[in-house]
Amino acid sequence: MKLTAIGTAGSFPGPDSAASCYLVETEEERPTRIVLDLGSGALSRLQRVVDPGSFAAVVLTHLHPDHCMDMTGLYVRHCYDPKFFNGNVSDTGSIRTRTSVFAPPGAEERLTRAYHTDPGRSPVAGSSDPSDLTHAFEFVDLDHRSSFQIGSLTVESFLVDHPVEAYALRITDDRGKVITYSGDSDECDNLIEAARGADVFLCEAAFQEDRDTARGIHLTGKRAGRVATNAEVKSLVLTHIPVWTDRCIVRGEAAGEFRGPIELAKPEASWTV
Ligand SMILES: [Zn+2]
Ligand SMILES: [Zn+2]
Repeated sequence: MKLTAIGTAGSFPGPDSAASCYLVETEEERPTRIVLDLGSGALSRLQRVVDPGSFAAVVLTHLHPDHCMDMTGLYVRHCYDPKFFNGNVSDTGSIRTRTSVFAPPGAEERLTRAYHTDPGRSPVAGSSDPSDLTHAFEFVDLDHRSSFQIGSLTVESFLVDHPVEAYALRITDDRGKVITYSGDSDECDNLIEAARGADVFLCEAAFQEDRDTARGIHLTGKRAGRVATNAEVKSLVLTHIPVWTDRCIVRGEAAGEFRGPIELAKPEASWTV
């Protein structure tokens, strides 16, 4: 399977990248495609890489805007793209297929509010349908150790250490290859478990040692490297580094803890396992 970075900026879109978004796809004749997070600005770059109608599911690690806010744009696309929309705003049946959205509980209401629709009212103008974003998206709640089969991929979620309910994702293909994505998390046992033996560990490193002292939010490069070593991953890709942080410092911190290959994620870089 192949991992492609779409948005890699930490916490908000930077001058060179959107916020968090990654594409995982299999290399079958009819590939399974999953989008991991769809943060602010990411829908733009995503469309350069893949048709937004071609993926089987979106998996949101948590509901901070830099991980989910472009779902509102994807909703507009699903509702009003003339390929699918017949012009009748009250005919929600014109949406052919719903996209599965795996996310922490509350995503449906949160994203409906972000689209500026009163809860319980249809976001489709003029419609009396009392539904919400669920006529475009099928929401499925994540939980600790949830496991979902999406096409030929298995996705497992692990509760991690962040100020809001947040999950790391472990994706396994039908050959047993593993890509783990940390989402946002500080160092914790569940993150190590999620990354255990991963071929690629895509890990946030938003903080810098000795500067960012708050705990329970993000990893430093050093802590990301330590998780990678404890989980015995084969390679480490650092991401979610904010604009005010020197990427070389974060990478250096990680290299002090992890002896395997380390890369810095950037938009449209990809890794095949
Ligand atoms: Zn974030
Ligand atoms: Zn976050």
